Amino acid sequence: ARRLSKVLQLTLAVIKPDAVAHPVMLEALHQRILDNNFVIVKCKDLVFRRQDSERFYAEHSGRFFYQRLVEFMSSGPMRAYLLAREDAIRHWRELMGPTKVFRARYTAPESIRGQFGLTDTRNTTHGSDSIESARREIDFFFPDFCMEEWMDKEEPLFR
Ligand code: ADP
Ligand code: MG
Repeated sequence: ARRLSKVLQLTLAVIKPDAVAHPVMLEALHQRILDNNFVIVKCKDLVFRRQDSERFYAEHSGRFFYQRLVEFMSSGPMRAYLLAREDAIRHWRELMGPTKVFRARYTAPESIRGQFGLTDTRNTTHGSDSIESARREIDFFFPDFCMEEWMDKEEPLFR
């Protein structure tokens, strides 16, 4: 019954190449995750090939920023986190702040993008935006992870 009020959720968070390039920023973001009561279920450093980038952002193909986004995301190392928390998807999105850097700076100066975002493209972080995209994206970054098994085994420990 407690599931009705607070449901443990999983989400995918990515520290993008612009932020991973700066060790101090990377450490600050890692701490930010812990300070906000996320449990780090999995974490890995990786580099996207161009085709990984294209596939991950396929929903944006054709948009004016797609090429530069694809190029940026395959330009250097990233860190992917599989995070658990109650209402994780919304909380991580809120912590990241708005997509566009100027909006982030003016409307959410305390947010990650408000603090660290460089441009609309180089905006430090990614976060799943729905349960469906979280599933797809977790599978994309952590193909060996079995969500159903994790929910059965681990989720009860959070209640
Ligand atoms: P979010 O990452 O906030 O979910 P979107 O899914 O709309 O944002 O876009 C994916 C990524 O594409 C953004 O995080 C950003 O890196 C890039 N992007 C989005 N909109 C723009 C834009 N107008 N100009 C340049 N890059 C953009
Ligand atoms: Mg998005």
